[in-house]
Amino acid sequence: MNWSQVAAEISKMTSGSVRTCEPLKAHTTMRVGGDARIFIRPSDLEEVTRVVSWARRRDLPIYILGGGSNLLISDDGVQGIVIKTTSGLVGLNEPVAETEGIRVEAGAGVMLGKLLTRSVEWELTGLELLAGIPGTVGGAVVMNAGVGELEMGHRVVEVLICDGDGIVKKLAAEQCEFGYRDSVFQHQLSDAVILRAAILLQRGQKEEIQARIRSRLHDRSERQPRGNPSAGSVFRNPPGASAGYLIDAAGWKGRRSGGAQVSPRHANFIINRGDATAGDIARLIAGIRESVQDQFEVHLELELETWGVIEGL
Ligand SMILES: Cc1cc2nc3c(=O)[nH]c(=O)nc-3n(C[C@H](O)[C@H](O)[C@H](O)COP(=O)(O)OP(=O)(O)OC[C@H]3O[C@@H](n4cnc5c(N)ncnc54)[C@H](O)[C@@H]3O)c2cc1C
Repeated sequence: MNWSQVAAEISKMTSGSVRTCEPLKAHTTMRVGGDARIFIRPSDLEEVTRVVSWARRRDLPIYILGGGSNLLISDDGVQGIVIKTTSGLVGLNEPVAETEGIRVEAGAGVMLGKLLTRSVEWELTGLELLAGIPGTVGGAVVMNAGVGELEMGHRVVEVLICDGDGIVKKLAAEQCEFGYRDSVFQHQLSDAVILRAAILLQRGQKEEIQARIRSRLHDRSERQPRGNPSAGSVFRNPPGASAGYLIDAAGWKGRRSGGAQVSPRHANFIINRGDATAGDIARLIAGIRESVQDQFEVHLELELETWGVIEGL
């Protein structure tokens, strides 16, 4: 593959930046990951779909990057085109009243925090429990990000995607097959790019919305590790149990591998103490899995998404 030629072709399709050999560690909250062969920030939705259709026709691997807050990327990086959504997919439409509530349409690259800030300004309630979850609207839809009783999928009514053939189409919420930290975009539609999501909120009282957000942020700062990079929860909670509890009980809290450490504060977080590699993190993941399987006969499933080849995973 002549990647310089690919970069040159893509440059003709976008007014956004096109880079080669971009270090992905700069784009993940874990601060881990090797280079992307091609890294682009398209300027709008049309540019995203143009590049995606072009690359699909040539069988070039595409990776969609939102806030990079749920990603573990190989130290060798990825052999393909990484499309970062946070420059071009950032439209946020004025709310529109409908019979069931107030509809807001947000580009996939809008940060969840920004959507919450605008909800406060618009005096719309419904997202407060998600306050403090890093990342983008697109990432939150793919992961069905959530806390306790609220998940992104509870608010989504429609999603605009560019499918595996480069065709732009709308999906109703039911077609997204939202489940616990799960959606159709992790399975049958894993080659789709989410371009925009429509969510349904309700009229609320500004001070009350703000107070609920403050309380959520406070809860998080009490419970989660501070200071070191991480990618949030490493494992999904198994049915009826807490992954953090099992990891702690298996004796892994605080244990290290190279520059990575199981957070002494929250055992389901792995933190980067400065120079962690994906290999260090993979060794902790493998060790935890083995211990939890041996001691509790529970298989822990990764919540993190992985890109590239990571030995041991
Ligand atoms: C400190 C911390 C706390 C966290 N707390 C929570 C929590 O409470 N609850 C929770 O659910 N999660 C939590 N997370 C995990 C993470 O923030 C969420 O999963 C988030 O929704 C990921 O969004 P993102 O934009 O960063 O996605 P990324 O990490 O960029 O991507 C995640 C996956 O989605 C895909 N993707 C992203 N955007 C698109 C798109 N537009 N189209 C197609 N595919 C796309 C990527 O290819 C990748 O496979 C936490 C993370 C951190 C670092």
